[in-house]
Amino acid sequence: MTTYAEALRQILEQTAPMPPAPKPLAEALGLPVAEDILAQEALPPFTNSAMDGFALRGVDILPGVRLKVLGTVAAGQVAEQNVVAGTALRIMTGAPLPEGADTVVPLEHTNHGEDWVEFPKPVKTGSNVRLAGEDIQPGTRVLEAGTILNPAAIGVLASLGLDRVAVRPRPRVAVMSTGNELVDASQKPGPGQIRDSNNPGLCAQITALGACAQPFPRVRDTREAVEAAVREALATCDVLLTTGGVSEGDYDFVKVVLEELGASKLFWKVAQKPGGPFGVWSLNGKLIFGIPGNPVPAMVMVEEYVRPALRKMMGFQTLFRPERQAILEDAWKKGKPDGKIHILRVMLREEPDGLHARLTGPQGSGVLSSMLLANGLAMVGADTLEVQKGSSVLVHLTEEPEDH
Ligand code: AMP
Ligand code: MG
Repeated sequence: MTTYAEALRQILEQTAPMPPAPKPLAEALGLPVAEDILAQEALPPFTNSAMDGFALRGVDILPGVRLKVLGTVAAGQVAEQNVVAGTALRIMTGAPLPEGADTVVPLEHTNHGEDWVEFPKPVKTGSNVRLAGEDIQPGTRVLEAGTILNPAAIGVLASLGLDRVAVRPRPRVAVMSTGNELVDASQKPGPGQIRDSNNPGLCAQITALGACAQPFPRVRDTREAVEAAVREALATCDVLLTTGGVSEGDYDFVKVVLEELGASKLFWKVAQKPGGPFGVWSLNGKLIFGIPGNPVPAMVMVEEYVRPALRKMMGFQTLFRPERQAILEDAWKKGKPDGKIHILRVMLREEPDGLHARLTGPQGSGVLSSMLLANGLAMVGADTLEVQKGSSVLVHLTEEPEDH
């Protein structure tokens, strides 16, 4: 059996960042930019007023002086008159500063009439003026390759005239459940049937990590149905996740079909609990994750293996969640030595003496409610038979972004 670390290593070795392509800004949020972005223009592009007020020459403001107001310049206009000695123009925020002016006095700091203005208080020359290029100079590197495009970055790109940005595409991830027992969430299960929770749950995980989930119709447990579905998914998607049918039961066809199709196996069966029969194959350069059907391992496998691989494809520099040591408040014991890493669902909280972890309750593979409460996964080493109450465990912080 492959170890957890070896399985992850093999997956990442078979995964390459996708080639970058320009994408509209609205589609790029949350992705790393694929190249350095240099400003081609200055920001602001022209010197303008930071306030609604009067544009004038700072030297003209003396106690008791009254300036003649020549007209008004609003945002989007260019003043027709220049400011000369003894004159001012009404100006609105964002309007270009008129020729001759160097200062703006806010309306509320003036006394004014239709065509005159006076200044009860002294004013500093140059105030309330935003100089061309004071924010960003042409040639400045505004974003370094690899920076994650947050809303501020999107705004900066737009202000510099860039409506597209080079990012690596979001991988299209086919998600398909196998299992004759499954029905849709909207259906009432008949005898022996259960609702398919993997498809919506895994699609949500894929969407949450920034890739593009492609839910596929559910697949019956027959060789033909699995084969047809796998072919179709690989024709249209970059990565395939199947759930269920990956063991060696009479109705488990995923492994059989992938091998018949000539997929090359990275590994099958990992020394871990939950999720032992997990397997990964590659066909025509595309990764296929054969994920066990039980809902808890299914989600854990996506979190631990699929997520870093998809992040690598999208060009993220950090692939893994933050990890820390936490004090386990429950005693935990293996039934018997099994040489497997055990991945426990835990609730984490900060305390003055460090991070504390509590088990979410029963850790069975079918106990999906244990995932609901978890904000971390404790990784108990393969050789550890027992963790005493109050001792330290390694945890993956599954609600914290990789980049923090
Ligand atoms: P399998 O891996 O196909 O042997 O399935 C293992 C267990 O997980 C069985 O109890 C299945 O009924 C259950 N299961 C498989 N697929 C799903 C699914 N999509 N949603 C919920 N439970 C599932
Ligand atoms: Mg099954």
